[in-house]
Amino acid sequence: MFETVIGLEVHVQLNTKTKLFCSCPTSFNHKQNTNTCPTCLALPGALPVLNKEVLHKSVMLGTAIDATINTTSFFDRKSYFYPDSPSAYQITQLYTPIVEHGKLKIDFEDGSHKTIRINRAHIEADAGKNIHDGDISKVDLNRAGTPLLEIVSEPDMRSAEEAILYLKKLHSIIRYLDIGDANMQEGSFRVDVNVSIRPKGDDKLYTRVEIKNINSFKFIQKAIELEVARQSEAWEDGVYEDEICQETRLFDQTKQETRSMRGKEEAADYRYFPEPDLLKAVVTDEMLEKYSKIPELPDEKMARFVKEYGMNEYNASVITSSVEMAHFFEAMMEEGISAKNATTWLTTELQGRLKGEMNITNSPVDAKKLGFLVKRIEDQTISGKAAKEVLDHLMENEIDVDSAIDKLGLKQVTDTGAIEAICDAVIAANPDKVEQYKGGKDKLFGFFVGQVMKESKGSASPQSVNEILKAKLG
Ligand code: ADP
Ligand code: MG
Ligand code: ZN
Repeated sequence: MFETVIGLEVHVQLNTKTKLFCSCPTSFNHKQNTNTCPTCLALPGALPVLNKEVLHKSVMLGTAIDATINTTSFFDRKSYFYPDSPSAYQITQLYTPIVEHGKLKIDFEDGSHKTIRINRAHIEADAGKNIHDGDISKVDLNRAGTPLLEIVSEPDMRSAEEAILYLKKLHSIIRYLDIGDANMQEGSFRVDVNVSIRPKGDDKLYTRVEIKNINSFKFIQKAIELEVARQSEAWEDGVYEDEICQETRLFDQTKQETRSMRGKEEAADYRYFPEPDLLKAVVTDEMLEKYSKIPELPDEKMARFVKEYGMNEYNASVITSSVEMAHFFEAMMEEGISAKNATTWLTTELQGRLKGEMNITNSPVDAKKLGFLVKRIEDQTISGKAAKEVLDHLMENEIDVDSAIDKLGLKQVTDTGAIEAICDAVIAANPDKVEQYKGGKDKLFGFFVGQVMKESKGSASPQSVNEILKAKLG
């Protein structure tokens, strides 16, 4: 029997306003090669100057993963030639990274936990992009020099499931800290997966394969499963030594396979040496003090929701799984409504109506409005059923909740006089049913409620109808 061993390297693009070593903007979707300057084009003589904002965000990450923050760290030059890197080297941190020895807790569905150690997080510059267009390839250097934090785990994960839990947790933390967009499709959260196997009980590390270019959690899961199967089969067939070598492989989602991309370079191949053009990176006491005060993280928020709102852990974890959802929920709660209703109206009713490009951040119905709608159910102004109609209307029209209720004529009749009159009429029209009910056919109660609701065109408060009918039918 084999055990799977996984270590993950995650490149997070930091959402700073400007690049790592120059003042070019980092914004997306600009015309190719316009966000460039002599520094990020690597023209001779141009010198890099460190963007302090990168240090701030690194301190935040380091604090969130309970790591050591090296208040003095250094940059190193990693040499390689690739068309999208005009300098033919990358500035990174090999010997003394800014963040070391962190940890991240992952949570299993059965309620148990595991701690994954994080070896380091270091600052480095991103490359540009090669654009392949038929026979020709073009280079866009807008992204060149964008700051990255590379977060490197220890080989502590033992299954694809654990790897995904780790990645989702890390992703969520980046979003809570708001230090990066962490959008996998757009490449601002890029994952390299290192996979090896070993006989169960063996604590030695065997040959690892690095899989690159996987841009969704689902594909990462698949790539790991395929790679583990390939390595295990090679072992069972007695060809492990011949077939499994340290290399970089690519995941092909259409062919559902991993295949060799290139042999793995050793550190020596990169001819690392201390970057001569930059001073050491210094995190001052003020910086450390200011940026180690980080926002509430998903775990703490979840624990607080359970305690403060009496939510069950499952609902609390659904709501806190994304920072946008958590913030939306908290804004709804300011209307003084129940957490259970807030959860349902957010996760089922609103999210069920967000189609296409719509999401919780650009939803036409914001948290205050949705919270107020729930409040109108709780104070019995409208029924839950009517509220769904109001929400449909709010999605399409810019109108406040009370005006929408008026316009649609959905206000519940709580005026007991009016409801009593309808009840009397229904009772008078069905003498035989009244007799049967009084004779013990309890099920008929529902019939009377239904008739009254129908007569009132759904506007009577069900609670009042129930009370009045009970009194009248005895
Ligand atoms: P490099 O920088 O060359 O990619 P590192 O030593 O920094 O190499 O390791 C990169 C990643 O590979 C780390 O996340 C580490 O945990 C993981 N790793 C190292 N050895 C193994 C192994 N035998 N199996 C699985 N993952 C491994
Ligand atoms: Mg690597
Ligand atoms: Zn520049």
